[in-house]
Amino acid sequence: MSGEQEIFQCRQCGHCCQGETTVSLNPEDVARLVAYLHLPLAEVQDKYLRLAGKVVQMKTVDGHCIFYNEGCTVHSGKPWRCSQWPLHPSMLDSQDNFETIRQSCPGIKGEMGYAEFRARLALILKSQPGK
Ligand code: SF4
Ligand code: SF4
Repeated sequence: MSGEQEIFQCRQCGHCCQGETTVSLNPEDVARLVAYLHLPLAEVQDKYLRLAGKVVQMKTVDGHCIFYNEGCTVHSGKPWRCSQWPLHPSMLDSQDNFETIRQSCPGIKGEMGYAEFRARLALILKSQPGK
Protein backbone atom coordinates (compact mmCIF):
# COMPACT_ATOMS: atom_id res chain seq x y z
CA MET A 1 0.00 0.00 0.00
CA SER A 2 1.46 3.37 -1.04
CA GLY A 3 1.69 6.28 1.36
CA GLU A 4 -1.20 7.95 -0.39
CA GLN A 5 -3.44 4.91 -0.07
CA GLU A 6 -2.86 4.93 3.67
CA ILE A 7 -4.71 8.22 3.95
CA PHE A 8 -6.92 8.28 0.87
CA GLN A 9 -8.69 5.90 -1.45
CA CYS A 10 -11.13 7.28 -3.99
CA ARG A 11 -14.67 5.90 -3.63
CA GLN A 12 -15.62 7.10 -7.10
CA CYS A 13 -18.60 8.98 -5.64
CA GLY A 14 -18.16 11.89 -8.06
CA HIS A 15 -18.84 14.57 -5.44
CA CYS A 16 -15.71 16.48 -6.35
CA CYS A 17 -16.88 16.86 -9.97
CA GLN A 18 -20.30 18.26 -8.99
CA GLY A 19 -21.37 21.88 -8.70
CA GLU A 20 -21.64 24.93 -10.92
CA THR A 21 -17.98 25.91 -10.61
CA THR A 22 -14.91 23.87 -11.40
CA VAL A 23 -11.23 24.07 -10.61
CA SER A 24 -9.24 26.70 -12.47
CA LEU A 25 -6.92 25.70 -15.29
CA ASN A 26 -3.43 27.09 -15.76
CA PRO A 27 -1.81 27.21 -19.24
CA GLU A 28 -0.20 23.78 -18.73
CA ASP A 29 -3.62 22.31 -17.90
CA VAL A 30 -5.10 23.74 -21.09
CA ALA A 31 -2.22 22.40 -23.16
CA ARG A 32 -2.59 18.94 -21.55
CA LEU A 33 -6.30 18.92 -22.26
CA VAL A 34 -5.79 19.97 -25.88
CA ALA A 35 -3.25 17.18 -26.37
CA TYR A 36 -5.49 14.64 -24.66
CA LEU A 37 -8.55 15.56 -26.72
CA HIS A 38 -6.62 15.80 -30.00
CA LEU A 39 -8.58 18.92 -30.92
CA PRO A 40 -7.55 22.43 -31.92
CA LEU A 41 -7.19 24.87 -29.02
CA ALA A 42 -10.02 27.07 -30.31
CA GLU A 43 -12.39 24.11 -30.42
CA VAL A 44 -11.47 22.99 -26.91
CA GLN A 45 -11.98 26.53 -25.62
CA ASP A 46 -15.30 26.83 -27.38
CA LYS A 47 -16.74 23.45 -26.41
CA TYR A 48 -15.32 22.79 -22.98
CA LEU A 49 -13.90 25.90 -21.32
CA ARG A 50 -15.24 29.19 -20.01
CA LEU A 51 -13.88 32.34 -18.43
CA ALA A 52 -14.91 33.39 -14.93
CA GLY A 53 -13.37 36.85 -14.89
CA LYS A 54 -9.80 36.06 -15.92
CA VAL A 55 -9.94 32.52 -14.58
CA VAL A 56 -10.24 29.63 -17.02
CA GLN A 57 -12.61 26.92 -15.83
CA MET A 58 -14.28 23.92 -17.38
CA LYS A 59 -17.89 24.33 -18.39
CA THR A 60 -20.55 22.62 -16.33
CA VAL A 61 -23.54 20.65 -17.58
CA ASP A 62 -26.47 19.64 -15.40
CA GLY A 63 -24.63 20.74 -12.28
CA HIS A 64 -21.38 18.87 -12.89
CA CYS A 65 -18.12 19.31 -14.78
CA ILE A 66 -18.63 18.83 -18.51
CA PHE A 67 -16.14 15.96 -18.42
CA TYR A 68 -17.96 14.01 -15.73
CA ASN A 69 -19.91 10.95 -16.81
CA GLU A 70 -20.00 8.39 -14.01
CA GLY A 71 -16.34 9.24 -13.52
CA CYS A 72 -13.82 11.53 -15.16
CA THR A 73 -13.73 11.06 -18.94
CA VAL A 74 -10.42 12.89 -19.39
CA HIS A 75 -8.51 11.19 -16.62
CA SER A 76 -4.92 11.61 -17.83
CA GLY A 77 -5.74 15.01 -19.36
CA LYS A 78 -7.42 16.52 -16.33
CA PRO A 79 -6.19 19.68 -14.56
CA TRP A 80 -3.52 19.24 -11.92
CA ARG A 81 -5.87 20.57 -9.26
CA CYS A 82 -8.14 17.62 -9.98
CA SER A 83 -5.16 15.26 -9.68
CA GLN A 84 -4.18 16.85 -6.39
CA TRP A 85 -7.64 16.57 -4.85
CA PRO A 86 -8.33 15.79 -2.05
CA LEU A 87 -4.78 15.84 -0.67
CA HIS A 88 -4.67 19.61 -0.53
CA PRO A 89 -1.81 21.30 1.34
CA SER A 90 -4.28 23.46 3.23
CA MET A 91 -4.98 20.40 5.38
CA LEU A 92 -1.52 20.83 6.85
CA ASP A 93 -2.52 24.28 8.08
CA SER A 94 -5.46 23.45 10.28
CA GLN A 95 -7.74 20.74 11.51
CA ASP A 96 -10.69 22.81 10.31
CA ASN A 97 -9.45 22.55 6.72
CA PHE A 98 -8.96 18.81 7.21
CA GLU A 99 -12.51 18.40 8.56
CA THR A 100 -14.01 20.49 5.76
CA ILE A 101 -12.33 18.46 3.03
CA ARG A 102 -13.04 15.21 4.84
CA GLN A 103 -16.73 16.07 4.87
CA SER A 104 -16.76 16.60 1.13
CA CYS A 105 -14.66 13.57 0.25
CA PRO A 106 -15.57 10.12 1.63
CA GLY A 107 -12.26 8.76 0.36
CA ILE A 108 -10.29 10.54 3.09
CA LYS A 109 -9.26 8.08 5.79
CA GLY A 110 -9.70 10.28 8.81
CA GLU A 111 -10.13 7.56 11.40
CA MET A 112 -6.47 7.80 12.38
CA GLY A 113 -7.05 11.33 13.67
CA TYR A 114 -5.72 14.67 12.49
CA ALA A 115 -2.22 14.53 13.94
CA GLU A 116 -1.42 11.19 12.31
CA PHE A 117 -3.13 12.14 9.05
CA ARG A 118 -1.24 15.44 8.93
CA ALA A 119 2.12 13.75 9.48
CA ARG A 120 1.48 11.27 6.67
CA LEU A 121 0.18 13.96 4.32
CA ALA A 122 3.23 16.11 4.98
CA LEU A 123 5.50 13.25 3.91
CA ILE A 124 3.49 12.63 0.75
CA LEU A 125 3.43 16.28 -0.31
CA LYS A 126 7.13 16.65 0.43
CA SER A 127 7.89 13.82 -1.99
CA GLN A 128 5.90 15.42 -4.82
CA PRO A 129 7.42 17.83 -7.33
CA GLY A 130 6.35 21.43 -6.67
CA LYS A 131 3.47 22.87 -8.65
S1 SF4 B 1 -15.11 13.19 -3.56
FE1 SF4 B 1 -13.31 11.98 -2.98
S2 SF4 B 1 -13.99 9.85 -2.99
FE2 SF4 B 1 -15.51 11.06 -4.16
S3 SF4 B 1 -14.81 10.90 -6.30
FE3 SF4 B 1 -13.94 12.78 -5.44
S4 SF4 B 1 -11.90 12.15 -4.70
FE4 SF4 B 1 -13.09 10.27 -4.99
S1 SF4 C 1 -11.80 17.14 -15.13
FE1 SF4 C 1 -12.44 15.14 -14.41
S2 SF4 C 1 -11.79 15.04 -12.25
FE2 SF4 C 1 -11.75 17.20 -12.87
S3 SF4 C 1 -13.75 18.01 -12.25
FE3 SF4 C 1 -13.91 17.37 -14.40
S4 SF4 C 1 -14.69 15.27 -14.36
FE4 SF4 C 1 -13.93 15.78 -12.29
